[in-house]
Amino acid sequence: MQFYSLNQQSPKVSFKEAVIRGIAPDKGLYFPETISPLSKEFFQHIENHTNEEIAFEMIRQFVGNEIPEPDLKAIIEDTLCFDFPLVELEDNVFSLELFHGPTMAFKDVGGRFMARCLSYFNKKQTNEVTVLVATSGDTGGAVASGFLGVKGVNVVILYPSGKVSEVQEKQLTTLGQNIIALEVDGTFDDCQAMVKRAFLDTEITDEMQLTSANSINVARWLPQMFYFAFAYKQLKDRSKKLTFSTPSGNFGNICAGVMAQQLGLPVSHFIASTNANKVVPNYMESGKYEPLKSVATISNAMDVGDPSNFIRIRKIFKDNFKLIKKNISSFSYSDYQTRIAMQDVFKASGYIMDPHGAVGYLGLKQYLQDQNKTQGIFLETAHPVKFLDVVEPVIQKSIAFPSQIEEIMDRKKVATSISSYENLKSFLLN
Ligand SMILES: *Cc1c(COP(=O)(O)O)cnc(C)c1O
Repeated sequence: MQFYSLNQQSPKVSFKEAVIRGIAPDKGLYFPETISPLSKEFFQHIENHTNEEIAFEMIRQFVGNEIPEPDLKAIIEDTLCFDFPLVELEDNVFSLELFHGPTMAFKDVGGRFMARCLSYFNKKQTNEVTVLVATSGDTGGAVASGFLGVKGVNVVILYPSGKVSEVQEKQLTTLGQNIIALEVDGTFDDCQAMVKRAFLDTEITDEMQLTSANSINVARWLPQMFYFAFAYKQLKDRSKKLTFSTPSGNFGNICAGVMAQQLGLPVSHFIASTNANKVVPNYMESGKYEPLKSVATISNAMDVGDPSNFIRIRKIFKDNFKLIKKNISSFSYSDYQTRIAMQDVFKASGYIMDPHGAVGYLGLKQYLQDQNKTQGIFLETAHPVKFLDVVEPVIQKSIAFPSQIEEIMDRKKVATSISSYENLKSFLLN
């Protein structure tokens, strides 16, 4: 399988090269040359397959022969070492809990899969790879945990000082080994700008092999297809129409859902639920895509003003506005509405949603209002404990730390403070 750049100016590459490069030299996102649907029987009898088998069938065409079957199977098995439960909250309303992995957010699957692929490709090489990543919170933790102890790979994470939650900071700064945290005196946008500059700085790239680890990387993006199939497998009644609501920021997750649909997963509609950052809801109304400056919200992992992966969705639907509208709705919600939803659901059923999942819930409810014989699943993308300062005052109850988190809260933070690009550069070069 070959991948081409959506900017069309760079040569096609293999899966391996797409993973190592992250982004094409012309700054385009990599996209698979072909997408071949799986057999109807596969999805009809999905309950006969283990999660590992489902994942293998869905991803093998994209990996091609770059990783031999037994090795790919081992990577998948190692990636999927936790559960993805589907919880029924109301009639036809389900929560797909994607927070049972090591860092308790859905990015664990992509982070772990990518780390293992990179480590596989790097086995025969003698020089090390440095993963350089900026995070607003969850990406850094998932990447750190996914790459911890992986030979031949060093991870350098930039995070904005004082702007990630306490749990998130502990996840970034307490692991040690090959994981290095840089605490940046600035915003997430500053971190992102420094990382981008480093990728273009030949004094750095002549010295070391740099790669990125956000959802533009195909090895982080594609494994997210699995969740949608795992959810489908758990439905008791698969004869009803099915819709998914995905709380969206950079639009990698929902784009992976659309890829699963292209493979034949019977999904009738997707809902891209956003917070106040509403570039895509605006696009759905006007047909014009206009990036905005991001605004801060309580669902901060979705504070994105120019979602990178939306271009892949447009590609899949041949940039046909009508076709996009037929398959995707998009709604935006305020922090106030999000808090009310968290409160209402907690009062009605005792179920605690995190602010991101709550945005997904709101979108699903809005869409289902005008549908009959349709069931819907919203993606619960993070454990509420990751956003304690928001969740506890809303539900007026304290939440217990799960064991994964409790363990790290007592560990000592280790981070190097930096305040400029020059600091980053000298750090990398020494
Ligand atoms: C990253 C993240 C999102 C947004 O996912 P995208 O793929 O960027 O759209 C939603 N919720 C949580 C908790 C996240 O960490």
